[in-house]
Amino acid sequence: MGGISGVQEPKLPRVPKVSPLTDPAPVEDALSLMSEVFALVGSTKDSQQMLKGACRLLAAGRPWVLAWVGIVDPDGRIQPIAQAGLRDKDLGSISLPRESDSSGEAIALTAARESFPQVMTDLKEDRRPEPWRTQALASGCRAAAAFPLRFGENVLGVLSLYAPSSDAFGTAELSVLQGLTDHLAHGLGRLQAEEQRARGMREFEVIRSLTSGMISRPDHSTLLHAVVEKATDLLEGACGGMYLSEPEEQVVRCLVSYPTPPDYTGAVLRYGEGAAGLVAQTGQGMIIPDYPQWPGRSDLLQEGAPLQSLLTVPMTLQGRVIGVIEIWRSAEQPPFTRADLDLLTLFANQAAVALENARLIEWTATERQQVQLLYDITQALTRSLDPAEILQRAMALTTDSLGAMFGEAFLLERPSGRLRLCTLEGRDQTLISEIDSRLAARPGKGLVGWIAKTRQPALVDDVTTDDRWEEVGGVEGIHTALGAPVLAGNDLLGVIMLFHRDRAAFHDEHLHLLTAIARQVGLALSNAERFQQTRRRLAEMGAIQQVGQVVNRRLEMQPLLEEVVHQVGEVLGYPVVEILLVDGQELTVRASRGSKYEVPHRIPLSEGLVGRAARTNEPAYAPDVRLDPDYVNALPDTQAEIVVPLRERGVVFGVLNVESPEAGSLTEDDLRLLSLLADQISVAIENAALYEHLRQRADELEQTVAERTSLLAEALEQARQADRIKSRFVSDVSHELRTPIGNIRLYLDLLTQGKPDRFSTYVDTLIRETERLMRLIEDLLAISRLEAGATPLTSTPLDLNDLARTLVQDRQRLFAARGLVLKFQPQAALPPILADERMLSQVVANLLTNAMQYTPMGTVTISTASICQDDRTWTTLTVADTGLGIPLEEQPRLFERFFRGENSHTVRAPGTGLGLAICKEILDRHGGKVSLESQVGRGSAFTIWLPACEGPPVAPSATTG
Ligand code: ADP
Repeated sequence: MGGISGVQEPKLPRVPKVSPLTDPAPVEDALSLMSEVFALVGSTKDSQQMLKGACRLLAAGRPWVLAWVGIVDPDGRIQPIAQAGLRDKDLGSISLPRESDSSGEAIALTAARESFPQVMTDLKEDRRPEPWRTQALASGCRAAAAFPLRFGENVLGVLSLYAPSSDAFGTAELSVLQGLTDHLAHGLGRLQAEEQRARGMREFEVIRSLTSGMISRPDHSTLLHAVVEKATDLLEGACGGMYLSEPEEQVVRCLVSYPTPPDYTGAVLRYGEGAAGLVAQTGQGMIIPDYPQWPGRSDLLQEGAPLQSLLTVPMTLQGRVIGVIEIWRSAEQPPFTRADLDLLTLFANQAAVALENARLIEWTATERQQVQLLYDITQALTRSLDPAEILQRAMALTTDSLGAMFGEAFLLERPSGRLRLCTLEGRDQTLISEIDSRLAARPGKGLVGWIAKTRQPALVDDVTTDDRWEEVGGVEGIHTALGAPVLAGNDLLGVIMLFHRDRAAFHDEHLHLLTAIARQVGLALSNAERFQQTRRRLAEMGAIQQVGQVVNRRLEMQPLLEEVVHQVGEVLGYPVVEILLVDGQELTVRASRGSKYEVPHRIPLSEGLVGRAARTNEPAYAPDVRLDPDYVNALPDTQAEIVVPLRERGVVFGVLNVESPEAGSLTEDDLRLLSLLADQISVAIENAALYEHLRQRADELEQTVAERTSLLAEALEQARQADRIKSRFVSDVSHELRTPIGNIRLYLDLLTQGKPDRFSTYVDTLIRETERLMRLIEDLLAISRLEAGATPLTSTPLDLNDLARTLVQDRQRLFAARGLVLKFQPQAALPPILADERMLSQVVANLLTNAMQYTPMGTVTISTASICQDDRTWTTLTVADTGLGIPLEEQPRLFERFFRGENSHTVRAPGTGLGLAICKEILDRHGGKVSLESQVGRGSAFTIWLPACEGPPVAPSATTG
């Protein structure tokens, strides 16, 4: 129980000394009054009833006509709660200010503070404040007294009495009244303790029911209403309300208004504004007895609302004000007391815990839902490895679960740095490309770009007031936006966004959830990418292996190049494939597929993407050829092109060119694949070149070997022939030498043993054989000298006519002796020749000797001529006879050494078979030749041919015959 604050040490009761009552009537009255009051105190269970009854008894026609009792409240004010003789309606407005006014302190207050009765003997004269002075005077009262209701060391209240005469407060009366008030105070104390216990029970009951109510109604909103409803009932308010704090915004928002109307739901007060704002700010509960007159009142309270006093307390949780509860009473209801404030504070703090628990339970439930959603999304995402499908599924689930108006998903395009809109959930899908091009999102641009750039999630309650928001049209009517970055590790993959028509439709929990979903999406996307990469790598490896296998089987260059373009086109599905090889300052298309060029086609190195790749030794990649200044339009359909260089030890020797009629159909993956392939193709081409080179060398070698072999065979044959010739030569020579030597020995023997008369014949034979031997030896020497080149040519310009004439003249007699006619028919103006005269004389002499020997009778004719043959002029000399002739089969062998024809034996012609061989040798050395025409039985004609030399023609000489 409270007491008057500022009361120092309670003073010992200074009870006036009791004087005996002299008048027996008052004594009887006093005794009956005391017994009535004692009976009342003993029988009444309600403190207010008891005090009312006491007032009635005291003011019932005795010397005291008016009575009231006030109770000291915790603030030290005295609140009147019972009276008798006064008009009821005035009672509620009695207020006794604690501070003394200029004229002093009200006696009730002094009595309470001093714990000692106070008397005012003349109401008219005494200027101390007295609330019912006017009434009391009107009721004929002149004196007043105040008695403290003392209970132990506390003063529970004050009993005030008014009487027409100051005699009513004589010493004896004061004694009686003090005794009565002490008794009353004991009764009051006992009842108050009882009532407090009962109230404590009631509060406990309320709180218990609140807690159980909370358990049976775990959802937050229902609980909020239940709390306000119970608080209002508990405090017997006319209505109640609850505000929740939003500390970031420094505002309180009204969530419950009970009962409605008036409805303040949704009202927002700044901290410090109005009663609720003030309580939220200070954390202190307060009672405002007269709110309409309260200077701090807010404009929220509707004009004419039947609300008078307000009790408002904070809901405090771990030192934080989480909200405010307020209870209103009407003007007809009693104002709130300190006890009400304490009760509501206790209640509010219990409610705060209940609310937090409910929030936790709800949060746990939400968490469970979120976990479920995340699980569902994870399940859905793991079923796909296609990025577009992953985003589609995630957005469908998320948009639906979070109750968004629609959702968007963007993917970061690495080459361009664009955030491309790829999923539009909850709206017409056909708008995607239009919205995407309007947004043209990229990191740093717009709200999506902000999320991408900062890699932070964002929750915007109202995009229309957010600087980052870019209004591009097509998405009108949006207020709340929620977005999170999709990350794989630190890599940004994209952004997912949710939108809502209402303002502040999403909360932090949604933001956390979307962030978690974005994490899942990031994981799924990076898994998908890894899978796609692996699959792509496998496909690439397969393709490369396949192309490589086929290509490596080819060793010849041209078939290899054709196989490469075929395989690259067929296996990898490129419609146009070409291989160009560097050739000086040009590239030559060596193999092509789907190209308009015929093979070979030449392109200058300075031209086109092929030229650039060859010049720079770098791949040329044009996803859209129109954007590449180097592109030369060759095929009208081409939209994309990749050219990769083919290199041998880092030096470009050609390029592989791939074109596609679909823009964007050639990606960086193709570029990478073709670059890998180019290395392999380069190796294959290198091998083919090496093979071709080797094969060429082998062919050359083979040819050389064949040539050499045939040369060797020829040489071998020649050697064999030579060997055969030599063997025959040796045997011929031996034979030829043996014959004359044998004859010579025979005739030498005959000279010693034969008949002397035959001596001359013997000597003749000896001479002939010796000559024959000598001729043979000379011929042998001549031919071996000629063959060894030992005889130098002494060439001089010669006139064959002169030479022939001399020989004819020398042999005229000899021929005539054998009965032969020797004719000479020189051609006039015969071109001279350049020849060794001695050798040439030997040739003509040999021919003349043969003609003579093989012509038994007839004519031998020497003729000269100048003949043009094979573009040159020859000077010829023919020795023609009318002799035996030479059979056709012998003619080819005539000029062989030691060959002698049949006729040589027929006519027993002396000879060695070397004559014609010597002739041929000499003519060979002069660049000339010998020809023969012969018929058996008709004669032979040998012609020697010598190249005519420049010089004056030789004048004809007369025919010798
Ligand atoms: P030989 O010492 O036998 O005359 P040659 O070399 O001078 O050797 O002639 C070779 C052969 O050619 C002779 O044995 C002969 O059979 C034939 N022959 C050469 N000249 C004539 C000719 N004028 N008429 C016929 N046969 C000839």
